[in-house]
Amino acid sequence: MKRIGVFTSGGDAPGMNAAIRAVVRTGTAHGLEVIGIRRGYAGMIEGDFVPLGPRDVANTLQRGGTILLTARSAEFKTPEGRAKAAENLRRAGLDGLVCIGGDGSYRGALKLLEEHHIPVVGAPGTIDNDLYGTDFTIGFDTAVNTALDAIDRIRDTAASHERVFFIEVMGRHAGFIALEVGIAGGAEVIVLPEDPLPASVCAEVISQSSAKGKRSSIVVVAEGGYEGGAEALARDVKACSGIEARVTVLGHIQRGGSPTAIDRVLASRLGAGCVDALLSGASGVAVGEVDGEIRLTPFREAVERRKDINRKKYELAKVLAL
Ligand code: ADP
Repeated sequence: MKRIGVFTSGGDAPGMNAAIRAVVRTGTAHGLEVIGIRRGYAGMIEGDFVPLGPRDVANTLQRGGTILLTARSAEFKTPEGRAKAAENLRRAGLDGLVCIGGDGSYRGALKLLEEHHIPVVGAPGTIDNDLYGTDFTIGFDTAVNTALDAIDRIRDTAASHERVFFIEVMGRHAGFIALEVGIAGGAEVIVLPEDPLPASVCAEVISQSSAKGKRSSIVVVAEGGYEGGAEALARDVKACSGIEARVTVLGHIQRGGSPTAIDRVLASRLGAGCVDALLSGASGVAVGEVDGEIRLTPFREAVERRKDINRKKYELAKVLAL
């Protein structure tokens, strides 16, 4: 193996740059040339390639987003689009690829491998933590801390005005971010897709909190936890109980910002782990960290197996909301 490509794809996540940097520097340390592919699969189809040396990734470790840019490409979902991408990769002499992205990006990488036999491995870059085969994904810890900072601020207002706040956090179909910030932010109720809560039950818990002497309440709602999100839940809670609440949807602020130390270290390990995996002849695998060790999981398993939330943490959250 002489020359490898690295790209970021799908939603951006803090720590992607730390992963790119680790791929470039580990690759260089092993005598490989590293080529950056800009704008994910879209740039692969257009041949938007740029050589990356160790100095090109200087001063990127602490930066959010991705210096290689990211995109969603409908064309890559077609066999013709992938054939174009594969032709560009071959022409550039790339013997292996590192894909940093979420489950959609992994699905695309698998197709590239199956149809065009290009060795590819992946690192989990998504704030949602919804990929099997790794305890945490790159960007999750930063997103949790960003959301928590916002919740702490909202709690000041909630407590001062004796109000109920519904705060919607990201996570797509998973409740990892909501569970983590719910515990860390002392939420009275956490609404997760893994345990959908009817509005009437949510209203009941808020009423009980108030009866126990709590003058304000924070309800953390995962975006996939209630049909229509926090706005709809607040509306339905009001309809069935009369409880008035304010709603804050945190949205994209959770995706940006400088990565935490945890995300920088995780991204560095997984980026380096991707190069090691390619050099050892592995392909079609996602590189993750499980119990502190690097673990390789076939792409298909990584995207198809559902990673569950930690149920013990969820039970703890309910006890601590007493
Ligand atoms: P993420 O990687 O964050 O889950 P997306 O789901 O948007 O983000 O996927 C990123 C890109 O991966 C898509 O724009 C598309 O080009 C490619 N992709 C996703 N799913 C497939 C698929 N089933 N087949 C081929 N390419 C796919």
